[in-house]
Amino acid sequence: MTLFDNSYARLPDQFYTKLAPTPVAAPKLRAWNSELAADLGLPDWNADEKAAIFGGNAVPEGAEPLAALYAGHQFGNWNPQLGDGRAILLGEVVTGGTRRDIQLKGSGPTPYSRMGDGRNWVGPALREYLVSEAMHALGIPTTRALAVVTTGETVLRETPLPGAIVTRVASSHIRVGTFQIFAARQDTAALQSLVDHVIARHYPGADGVEGFLEAVVARQADLIAHWMSVGFIHGVMNTDNAHVAGETIDYGPCAFMDDYHPARVFSSIDHGGRYAFSNQPNIAAWNMAQLATALLPLMPDREAGIERFTEIVNGFAEVYQKAWRRVFGAKLGLSDLGDAGVDLVTTLLSMMAEEKADFTNTFRYLSSDPDEALLHSGYADWLVRWRVAEPDEALMARANPQVIPRNHLVEEAIQAAVREDWAPFEALHAALQTPFDAPTNARFQMPPEPDEVVVQTFCGT
Ligand code: AMP
Ligand code: MG
Repeated sequence: MTLFDNSYARLPDQFYTKLAPTPVAAPKLRAWNSELAADLGLPDWNADEKAAIFGGNAVPEGAEPLAALYAGHQFGNWNPQLGDGRAILLGEVVTGGTRRDIQLKGSGPTPYSRMGDGRNWVGPALREYLVSEAMHALGIPTTRALAVVTTGETVLRETPLPGAIVTRVASSHIRVGTFQIFAARQDTAALQSLVDHVIARHYPGADGVEGFLEAVVARQADLIAHWMSVGFIHGVMNTDNAHVAGETIDYGPCAFMDDYHPARVFSSIDHGGRYAFSNQPNIAAWNMAQLATALLPLMPDREAGIERFTEIVNGFAEVYQKAWRRVFGAKLGLSDLGDAGVDLVTTLLSMMAEEKADFTNTFRYLSSDPDEALLHSGYADWLVRWRVAEPDEALMARANPQVIPRNHLVEEAIQAAVREDWAPFEALHAALQTPFDAPTNARFQMPPEPDEVVVQTFCGT
């Protein structure tokens, strides 16, 4: 029995280009997610075999490597053709009824590379490995990371940097942009096969195109509420980075906030603050409107379709509000966040913004050491009001992490790895596995010192 069952490769030709990864000079395995590998039922490959496969030098039996085609709105501007420019899908593995993609990122040029080299350097590879695995440990839907292999080759960015390939595992790599490209090409047959594929794969209960759109909107709304609850800023919420099954995907210039501000932006390319922290729900809803537009040709009556889809996309707000109440309620230890509870959250957040309070630690201190949490003139009154609501400490402990992948720690791990010291990466990765427990190294819990603050993040492509 083969390991792979490649349903995407069975879709019509216009969905992808089949091609193998480009081999690299000296692949070396640097990170391996053995828990995920076991979950995927991968064979017991030795380190050299893993390095060869996940460095792109050997294609395992049954894999049908391909680069997928998609388009997308980037910062609101339509780009008619994107696609996997530096990624190659090895194939899909089904275990326990769950189908998952195994994809190499940084594995060489494809027909969709445009001006890029198809490569990745150690920085973005480790960032994705650390942050996506942290997200998973936090219980937030996300793609995962299976491996990091350094290539023994140099990648030229502003300076020469060590090359690396990160292997990503996801329920699929289908994005809003995958629908958009076939809609833009007026290829209704391809659009229909894509919808059939996605319904069978991600939403087996969905009732046709409408039910499908409704389900995608609900998952996106839920996902964004989760991001907000941990202070996560994605940074590039383009439609090609909006996953159709609601997983967090494409960890580029993303960041977890240290001190809270609703308008916080990290990405060096986000000049207008389009993807600022508090704008994320609006953008996700906008992305859903783009998905709806792409799906319209499948509706028998265009006018009625527009009306129905508008209603569904507008439903984002309600699902988001409900999810927001649930996740922020849990952060305050309140399982049923009524209007008074919502006011408690918004008041706390505005005090935090004024005081530049650390997002993660403020919530954490509320239960363990409330007097340490905040220095604000309104805080004493707020504490009284909050205590009257009888917060549940156990609920808070499960909702408020102690360890998040803070920017300065991720940067430090990357810089050390570039110097061939992998210990900081490994230690940080280990601490991120149990985010709700106190870390053995207290530094992993601390906000950055003033000279450690990372103010900007880069796509690193
Ligand atoms: P991302 O910012 O990772 O979502 O990428 C946006 C688009 O640019 C996708 O089509 C990528 O495949 C492509 N891309 C990013 N970096 C590279 C690169 N180094 N070489 C080729 N294509 C790239
Ligand atoms: Mg992308």
